[in-house]
Amino acid sequence: MGELIFRGGTIVTLADDHTVTDGDLAIRDGVIAQVGGAYTPTSHDYQIVDAAGCVVMPGLVQAHVHTCQTLARGKADDLELLDWLEKVVWPYEGALDGPAMAASARLAMAELLLGGTTAILDMGSVHHTDEVFAAAEVAGIRATIGKAMMDAPDPRIPAGLRETTTASLAESDRLADRWHGAADGRLRYAYAPRFVLSCTDELLAEVGRRARTRGLLVHTHASENKGEIAAVEARYGKRNLLALHDLGISGPHVCVAHCVHLSEAEIALLAEHGTHVLHCPSSNLKLASGVASVPELMARGVSVALGADGAPCNNNLDGFLELRLAAVLHKPRVGPRALPAPAAVRLATRAGAIALGLADTVGALVPGMKGDVIAVDLTGPHVTPTTNPWSALAYACRASDVRHVAVDGKLLVSDRTLLTMDLAEVLRGARHHAQRVFDRL
Ligand SMILES: [Zn+2]
Repeated sequence: MGELIFRGGTIVTLADDHTVTDGDLAIRDGVIAQVGGAYTPTSHDYQIVDAAGCVVMPGLVQAHVHTCQTLARGKADDLELLDWLEKVVWPYEGALDGPAMAASARLAMAELLLGGTTAILDMGSVHHTDEVFAAAEVAGIRATIGKAMMDAPDPRIPAGLRETTTASLAESDRLADRWHGAADGRLRYAYAPRFVLSCTDELLAEVGRRARTRGLLVHTHASENKGEIAAVEARYGKRNLLALHDLGISGPHVCVAHCVHLSEAEIALLAEHGTHVLHCPSSNLKLASGVASVPELMARGVSVALGADGAPCNNNLDGFLELRLAAVLHKPRVGPRALPAPAAVRLATRAGAIALGLADTVGALVPGMKGDVIAVDLTGPHVTPTTNPWSALAYACRASDVRHVAVDGKLLVSDRTLLTMDLAEVLRGARHHAQRVFDRL
């Protein structure tokens, strides 16, 4: 694979000591070899990218996205969660075929990579998850993907998404067999029961068992919306996270999106078992769900990571937008030191790697870790003058400031140009298939 050198930037390592240093960041055979100072290539097989005026940092990790929903951008505005699902998102997902799913995933991954997101935890739809993996394989993004599991006999779920418990588990296992560990470990599988209300108890309990046996993540949603929580309480007579825990779904391999409305017992449970909370501030605001108590959860020792959720509830997949929003959103309630800039930047990078079980692999620039690295241009008028890179990254930078992106030491974006896919073709395909899917609806 040779060597990739980010030359002459300000390196924000996100290592434990929060080191910031100047110089070169060198990746050799996909792995970080040197951080700072001047690097001399050790062979003739090397590539140098100019990082002058840039912060060089770990790629952003978005621990909750739906790349399958991207074609529904702008189609489900101004609705609350349960209406949003029933009126638009479920019918849309039910109408996706293989080519439309591929177009949606490719569009999402183009946006994510160009905006500096190098790793995702992605919930697919019920069908066509192979197309999502295939898109990630080509795009070069690090992706942990799971098919959405929806076996509840609920008439609100459209026919195109209904599945039996047996079929849901069998398809999940088949996808895990085919894709977990593919592309040199860059692609992984996660069981993804959509949320308690879309699943039977039998399915949830079986997911809890199989995830532990196979050493796979569980990715789900919980406690996002008050109507959802009331429906869960009506079914179980207990709070959402307690119901999941009693079905065997909690622990450091479990990633739960939202957790906006939690009881004291649920917070204690998250902290005790190491279950990860995936904070999606734009989505929670736009769906009128509420504001998760992120600084309070972190103070209690709960692991929190960040994600943009999906295009129909955000409407971007911009990791910098989520980072800035997470940094400012909690200040009115908790105070100006609620989530200081370095803590917010850590939330968007290292914390995501921890939630994905990749803490030793990505999320910090340390020799021996994988070369998932971005260079963020700090010379734009909206960032100038810059004396503090943490402040720039948390409060001023945008996705469009991302100049270079590498995953596994392979350059995927160079000078803001996507190298792994033809962006014009991705955009054309997205428009074409979006039109086709919504015409069918
Ligand atoms: Zn979601």
